[in-house]
Amino acid sequence: MTKMRAITVAEAGGPELLQFTEVESPAPGAGELLVQTRAVGVNFIETYQRSGIYSVEYPFTPGGEAAGVVLEVGDGVEGYTAGDVITTAEASRTYAERFVVPADRAVRVPEGIAADVAAAIPLQGITAHYLATSAAQPRAGETVVVHAGAGGVGLLLTQLLVARGVRVFTTVSTAEKRELSLGAGAAEVFDYDDFSARARELTDGEGVAVVYDGVGARTFDDSLAALRVRGELVLFGAASGPVPPFDLQRLNAGGSLSVTRPSMGHFVRTAEERAWRYRELFAAMEAGQLDFRIGARFPLAEAAAAHQALESRATTGKVILEP
Ligand code: NDP
Repeated sequence: MTKMRAITVAEAGGPELLQFTEVESPAPGAGELLVQTRAVGVNFIETYQRSGIYSVEYPFTPGGEAAGVVLEVGDGVEGYTAGDVITTAEASRTYAERFVVPADRAVRVPEGIAADVAAAIPLQGITAHYLATSAAQPRAGETVVVHAGAGGVGLLLTQLLVARGVRVFTTVSTAEKRELSLGAGAAEVFDYDDFSARARELTDGEGVAVVYDGVGARTFDDSLAALRVRGELVLFGAASGPVPPFDLQRLNAGGSLSVTRPSMGHFVRTAEERAWRYRELFAAMEAGQLDFRIGARFPLAEAAAAHQALESRATTGKVILEP
């Protein structure tokens, strides 16, 4: 059996449990590609899985996102050969030197896009795209709030919304993050403490059409309070912890509000939908409307430091692991 190195988590707990170990290299099944990893995208979900907020089976190798070079093509796969460069957000066990992915969940990386950028595109890019176009559909001229505006999703979502003519307010925690968010096109950048009042003030007391909230527990109540009548709260994550159960009657009192809790998987339901989202992301990059910022890189062996940085709010943009 061929060996490779991968991150393994033996039990739920802190970042120090991300151990760099030797394991068996996977083999591609029918319809799958075996890929040599060039760069791994780190995402918040892996911290939830590692810490036990989301249940997984241990021992566990995290990772859904990575870019790399096809080594072997499984039976029945058409359209790929060894040497092709692909990226995906829909693999598993990508914190590793090699990974397998169903061929229909991979996308070919256009010429000229470096491996680290290719690994940064799928998960946060597709998420930002479905948040801007499908989970809610703010129109040109409307105002929205995007929380964690200098984060991976936050920077991309801001750029995509601004390109559609939407006025974007964001929240961030530091002066450096404020500058980054403004650079992505935010019209105003707020502190978490008073964003709700500030957003209402700057919309003539009306409130905003949509709040995109990936922060969760810390922001949820104020996010509801920032909405206009018939506004929509898109709760897409829980970086500060999960939102406790709440009384639906509050949606009525707030002005016939809506709350949705979307996941990326539900917005790439067909090959056509997936292809459409990637096509639009690549086109926005080519048009200079979308910049994928790599905020931090770590060797694969130092995945623990990458999780620590993400969870302690020390990162901006995308965090990458390199084998
Ligand atoms: P980010 O790069 O945005 O990192 C999280 C950011 O959240 C931090 O940098 C920090 O920004 C902010 N934050 C606020 N409070 C806290 C806290 N208590 N602890 C940690 N961070 C905090 O991560 P991602 O872009 O990868 O993900 C953003 C959110 O989107 C996450 O909740 C993630 O789970 C979710 N997500 C959801 C998907 C879906 O389909 N539903 C898909 C992808 C991501 P600051 O310092 O400025 O406050």
